[in-house]
Amino acid sequence: MDNDSLTQRDKRVLWHPCTQMHDYETLPLIPIRRGQGVWLEDFNGKRYLDAISSWWVNLFGHANPRINAAIADQLQNLEHVILAGFTHEPVIDLSEKLINIAPPGLAHCFYASDGSAALEIALKMSFHYWRNHGEVKRTRFINLANSYHGETLGALSVGDVPLYKETYQALLLETITVKSPDCYQREAGESCADYSARTFAHMEAALTKHAGEVCAVVIEPLVQCAGQMRMYDPIYLKLLRQACDRHRVHLIADEIAVGFGRTGTMFACEQAGITPDFLCLAKGLTGGYLPLSVCMTTEKVYQAFYAEYAARKAFLHSHSYTGNPLACRAALATLDIFHTDDVINRNRTLSAQLAQATARFSDHPHVAEVRQTGMIVAIELVKDKKNRTAYPWQERRGLTACRHALEQGVILRPLRDVIYFMPPYVIKPEEIDGLAQVAWQGIDRACG
Ligand SMILES: *Cc1c(COP(=O)(O)O)cnc(C)c1O
Repeated sequence: MDNDSLTQRDKRVLWHPCTQMHDYETLPLIPIRRGQGVWLEDFNGKRYLDAISSWWVNLFGHANPRINAAIADQLQNLEHVILAGFTHEPVIDLSEKLINIAPPGLAHCFYASDGSAALEIALKMSFHYWRNHGEVKRTRFINLANSYHGETLGALSVGDVPLYKETYQALLLETITVKSPDCYQREAGESCADYSARTFAHMEAALTKHAGEVCAVVIEPLVQCAGQMRMYDPIYLKLLRQACDRHRVHLIADEIAVGFGRTGTMFACEQAGITPDFLCLAKGLTGGYLPLSVCMTTEKVYQAFYAEYAARKAFLHSHSYTGNPLACRAALATLDIFHTDDVINRNRTLSAQLAQATARFSDHPHVAEVRQTGMIVAIELVKDKKNRTAYPWQERRGLTACRHALEQGVILRPLRDVIYFMPPYVIKPEEIDGLAQVAWQGIDRACG
């Protein structure tokens, strides 16, 4: 078996995610045979550094021996059981541990399989909370411009990336969309904190105008990942928590991409010292092994649903694989690695190395900005550096840079003209340097 024969079979029967399938007439589709640490290997024996953690899910490398062992052990006992009316040790252990490490005040865990589903749960729970309290006029959500929360209809509704959303607009909930605190848009000489704080006026105005009809504000704390890795200051989250309390509106924090150490702390909300009413987690939760997501919430929300059955207050939402034991064991092994290997502290060195390796990129004539939050570095390519004029999207410059990287054995995936590194936490310093080298060449080729 080689790359070509598998590619041909694939194209006859598959339809790939987030892909114009026609692209595969000119772009290579790469069948992967095995993974080890930060490396993936294709069927021709070529190796690739997984610099995007396989779509932001992998934390401790492919084929991690400790996560492998946990799943194998669980397989001997119980692969799955219905979670309504039944329970099991892995899901109880995991819930206790998550409640221990999450911002204080989150007290109950509701599981699903994908990030989008966790968002749907948060949206429905928030709406249903107000309804159970007789506040039936609250039917709307406030979101940020350029936000991303997933692809199912509810999650897509509270997102704001036109590329994914525009087509389906007629099917979606109508949200109240507020200017993003995105520091890329700050004035020359203005600090990121000042800009984010100043932008909050738009949120305050929306809350003042709409509070009585709003269930919740939905945000991605600190980094709008799918929205081209745009970043903002924790001050915004502090102001938002205070305003949500003042206006009696829920705060939903979507840490699906930024949770589990990506921003330098276990959860991004920690950097603002806040607790959201709902915390959505997925992606890194299982270390990148199995689909598992969770929507965590407070005792107060939980109690709004707790009543005699006849009161008809229950949250009758479910997914077939809710709390799957194998996925829970992968998550437990992942949390165990965080604990025993002091990962958050050790990542400080890695993120300093990422900063060092990418420092020179800001001098590149077609790089408008290099930005970093913890273990995420983003490099924004522009046609004109002075005015930050973007390249026409049809030119797909970011893609050209990433194609070069792929030839050189590095997996990058552009967000339009933003190249980013979001590597597993087991990447080595020399691998970071190699990665930066290849990205530099790719950018030169794309912008030359
Ligand atoms: C990926 C992502 C989602 C959706 O998660 P899926 O598992 O792909 O459904 C939601 N929110 C954010 C911030 C994400 O990055």
